This record gives sequence, C-alpha cells and structure tokens, in this order.
Amino acid sequence: MRKVYLDHNATTPTHPEVVKAMLPYYGKIYGNPSSIHQFGQEARKAIDEAREKVADFIGAIQEEIIFTSGGTEADNFAIKGIAYANEKKGKHIITSSIEHHAVLNPCKYLEKQGFQVTYLPVDKYGLVDPDEVEKAITKETILITIMHANNEIGTIEPIAEIGKIAKEKGICLHTDAVQTVGKIPVNVNKLNIDSLSLSAHKIYGPKGIGGLYVHKGIRIQPLIEGGHHEKNRRAGTENVPAIVGLGKAVEIAKTTLDKESIYLTNLRDGLCSGIGEKIDSVYLNGHPVKRLPNTLNMSFEFVEGESIILNLDMKGIAVSSGSACTSGSLEPSHVLKAMGVEPAIAQGSVRFSLGKDNTEEDIDYVLEVLPEIIVRLRAMSPLYRKQKG
Ligand SMILES: *Cc1c(COP(=O)(O)O)cnc(C)c1O
Repeated sequence: MRKVYLDHNATTPTHPEVVKAMLPYYGKIYGNPSSIHQFGQEARKAIDEAREKVADFIGAIQEEIIFTSGGTEADNFAIKGIAYANEKKGKHIITSSIEHHAVLNPCKYLEKQGFQVTYLPVDKYGLVDPDEVEKAITKETILITIMHANNEIGTIEPIAEIGKIAKEKGICLHTDAVQTVGKIPVNVNKLNIDSLSLSAHKIYGPKGIGGLYVHKGIRIQPLIEGGHHEKNRRAGTENVPAIVGLGKAVEIAKTTLDKESIYLTNLRDGLCSGIGEKIDSVYLNGHPVKRLPNTLNMSFEFVEGESIILNLDMKGIAVSSGSACTSGSLEPSHVLKAMGVEPAIAQGSVRFSLGKDNTEEDIDYVLEVLPEIIVRLRAMSPLYRKQKG
C-alpha cells in the first residue's frame, strides 16, 4: 500500500545527511566535551561548529545559543527562567490563548507560583493583535511570550510588530519559533526578539535536541543545576551527536528553505483546491496567506476529525487533528476554540502538514481516497442526512 506522510508538524523524518553527520559521534568521537584532552576537544569543536551554524541561521551570536533537550525544554526554560530572574521587577506575563502546551503549561505553573498571566484572544484567523498586546502591558509586565507560527493552523503571528512594542516598553519578548526556524526566514534582530525556542525534529533533525536563543544581557535563571555547561545556564553533559545533527539540519535548511517553501506552498494549495472541488461543506482553518508554507488545516462538517484520521490511516495516509498532544482525547482543539470556530465544525478538523519528500502523486492519492471517506462517514451522520434531505 502507498504510504503518504502528511504530519510533518508533529515530526519529520531525519535527513540522511543529518544521520551521516551524527554517526561518527556515536563511534570514534566519543569524548566528553568538558574534558581537556584531545578526545574531549574533538567533541567540543563539533559543538562549537554546530552552535555557530544555529546562531548564524537566525542572526544571533554563538554565546546567545543554549542547547536544550528540545522545544519543550526551551519554552520552559525561557518562561520560567526569565520570570524567576526578573520577578523583583514585576510578576506579570502576557501570552496568547493559542500557544503550544509547552508554553501554556509553564504559564499555568507560574500562576500557581504567584505570577499573573494574561492570555490574549485571537481573531478568526488565529492572529494576535499587536494593539491588544500593548493594551495588556502593565507596570508589572516582565515577559511577553507569543508563538511565531501556530503548529495546528500554521498562522504566522505579527512578531516584528509585537517586538517593536516590547522593545519600546523595555519588556522581554520570547517567541516559540519551533514551527518557523527552518521553514520561513527567521532573524532575531529583524523580529526584535529577546528569546526564541527552536527544535531539530521538526526540520529533519533528530528528536530530543533543540535550542534557546537568549539575547545578550537578558537575565535568565537556569532550570537545570549541575556543572558549568552551556556557560552555567544548562547543566549536563552535552548530547554531542544530536547537537551535530541539529547543526547539520539548519545548515541544510539554509540552502533549501527558499525553494522548499515555494514547492510546498504549491503542493499544499493544490491539495486545498482539490478538496474544495471534490468535497462540499469544508472550511479552511487559519489565515489564508499569513500561514506556514506546509500547513493546511480544514474542517469537514458533519464528520469527526478522529474518524477521518483513522480512515486515512487505513489507506496509508498519516494526518492529524489538532496537535499531536491532544489527539486521543475528543476535546476540541484549544486553538480552534480560541478562534471562535463552532465546536461542531472544530470536531471535524484535520491538519495536513507537508514535507520536502511529498510529491504531486501523494496529493493525487489523498484526493482520490479522501472524498470517498467523507461520503461514507457523512452517510452515517443523521445531521448530514437531515440537511441534505
Ligand atoms: C513541537 C513543538 C514544540 C515542542 O518541541 P519538542 O522539541 O517536541 O519538545 C513546541 N512548540 C511548538 C509550536 C511545536 O510545534
């Protein structure tokens, strides 16, 4: 059976070149980067090179990059670390209601610790209004954390504008850029951001490795105490092979990003219009153009997203509903809810997230299989039968 993977916002296959770059560090280059002998120094050099690649890719300098165990740790570190280091100045944080749980849950945790958190609303496209950010700022505000692009719907937030406001007010701005670094151009200076999370496995790198950019001079308290690794900001012997893999992944992304984004936009828009032509009562979730090139989230009225996923899976097609973390529960996505999507429509949402190895044939296959599935599922829906008479 044909296999079509359309769940790249959950994770991507590791690029063969990335695996190749990592292998020596599982073999003969095994030294501890903290050791001063040659074995250690060889590993240290590999980390330095990877750090340079990551820093260069987002317009930062080496000292501003801290390697973490992934996007989740980077988000936790930024939010808790900046909050604790600055709590004497104030205890108010601003975020949005459509963040990834790696941001929402640290914010909820801090609320229990006596911080106040404002969860900003979004419009029907999932956009945060920079004016709302400005209005929410108080004398107590120490951190604004708004994601760069949403993982479920792909909407790209106006981070540069929000960054301008944060800068004027002297407030730290963190952005979860896990879905953008490697997919669209990201430059920390152009975006006016002080802190940014990224992850390797969303961009053809290995799982369990990511990074946090922290602008020079921003105060941040470590989450993990121990040795003097990462300039005393994140203790623990470095995951050398994974760091090398992350470095390679961004090195590849740097050369392929522009072409790939055009390729994926075309492929995705073909899928979108194909669905629109073949299936009635479908709606696009997310912004029509301010959106990640690879992401398409659509609601199929009168059908459960979960049923669509299971039926597509039987045909070898992998998609998701909402975020991977919320799959398995039938709770409608917090993102669609915040956008004001009616619960009945939100239930029927499916996310197609494309990747570099997807082809026209993959899309044709989906367009062949999906309409039949929808017809079959709708035939079982009393609501649908009633409406269509
Ligand atoms: C995947 C993802 C994360 C978590 O990253 P991990 O490396 O899997 O921990 C955080 N934020 C967003 C927007 C994501 O898509």
